[in-house]
Amino acid sequence: MVRKDEILDLEITGMTHEGMGVGKKDGFAIFVQGAVDGEKVGVKIIKVLKSYAVARIEAFIEKSSHRQEPFCPVYKRCGGCSLQHMTYAKTLAFKRQVVVDNLARIGSLSDVRVHDTLGMAEPINYRNKAQYPVGMGKSGPVAGFFARRSHEIVEAPSCAIQHPLSDKAKDIVLGYIKALNIPVYNETTGHGIIRHVVTKVGFNTGEVMIIIVATKPELPKANKLIYRLKRDIPGLASVILNVNPKPGNVILGDRNITLFGKDTIQDTLGGLAFEISPLSFYQVNPAQTEVLYQKAVDYAHLQGNETVFDLYCGIGTIGLFAASRAKKVIGVEVVPEAVEAAKSNAKHNGIENAEFYAGLAEEVVPELYEKGIKADVVFVDPPRKGCDENLLKTLVDMAPSRIVYVSCNPSTLARDLKFLTGSGFQVEEVQPVDMFPWSEHVECVVRIQREN
Ligand code: SAH
Repeated sequence: MVRKDEILDLEITGMTHEGMGVGKKDGFAIFVQGAVDGEKVGVKIIKVLKSYAVARIEAFIEKSSHRQEPFCPVYKRCGGCSLQHMTYAKTLAFKRQVVVDNLARIGSLSDVRVHDTLGMAEPINYRNKAQYPVGMGKSGPVAGFFARRSHEIVEAPSCAIQHPLSDKAKDIVLGYIKALNIPVYNETTGHGIIRHVVTKVGFNTGEVMIIIVATKPELPKANKLIYRLKRDIPGLASVILNVNPKPGNVILGDRNITLFGKDTIQDTLGGLAFEISPLSFYQVNPAQTEVLYQKAVDYAHLQGNETVFDLYCGIGTIGLFAASRAKKVIGVEVVPEAVEAAKSNAKHNGIENAEFYAGLAEEVVPELYEKGIKADVVFVDPPRKGCDENLLKTLVDMAPSRIVYVSCNPSTLARDLKFLTGSGFQVEEVQPVDMFPWSEHVECVVRIQREN
């Protein structure tokens, strides 16, 4: 066992899935933030729990050759990136290993082929969406990012993974708040007005949307803010007031009021145009999204005569990517606004063989199946909690030739693959894609084949 405040030398022999180094003392696991496997470090124990302890690095005894100096000045405090102390190549290898471990441990899939993670040539300024919490700091209003495991706001003059215009918009909103004494939100009391600044940038069109999340349906002296944004943000196409009076961690409320410009902005991906609205999901890394979708469409191996389901379709992107190679595409998505966007995206791109339904995939797909509507190939791209078992059961009954599973969470992916492999499907290959460089998150595309 170890004691709090104990100082010891530790060999780092593994990594947690959040990217912490792991060492062992007499078989007891010690997690060390910022340590890399293969290193020897002097640590101080800061917390002892039942099955593991947490320690802080006090000194390096042997450094890893995969270590690098973090490029962000607030890296240690900010909760955004967690892997900047490793080289980019090492982060890609780490992410692949997370996938391999999850597949083996949760999915009992030890011999599946997991390819090397597809990374970015230049993994900076890649995000098209930023969400800056706004609050009161020690010396006035602040906007930035939440610190790791806390709601303290860390200020960063610029963030290397965001589009530069996102940081600029955040600064302009903060300037307006300070100059005009606009009350910022207090999470504890629920008082105040401005909670978040959210930005969305169409990388390929240059269109910018700025969303001010506030507790009230009117923004004091809004015209002053809009004047500044119009003056300093090239491509400004939309300013939205999103009303969220509810306490809690959900950033956006249901109601959007357009203060300037359009209700939506546009972006293009793979030659198709997409409409982006405040509430609908749109992949945050456009360059890697094309890589991901291309892989997904390759894995679908379409011949042109198939009915294809695009489940958890968001604004229809994957299905519309695949539409020219299929007979018919049916998309299902729970956010009604996203479904409307998917329909208009199909229309604007001249795609006539795609239809979209609003509802839960686990309810809509069984209904379609009951009516005799079946898929030959299915794409699923669920949120972090993975697929509902009811959906998986229906897919097993429907028995499509192929399922292409796009996942942002290797542990629920592994759980769902275990279900499918026990029910007549075989996992052929897994391709991790680095959608979120420098964070611990990893996205995968999986090719799943029906057994004959
Ligand atoms: N395929 C899209 C969206 C993926 S994100 C893209 O690549 O852009 C996951 C989507 O699933 C979100 O749009 C979310 O609103 C939707 N969703 C979450 N739970 C759902 C459910 N049970 N049924 C249908 N859609 C759901």
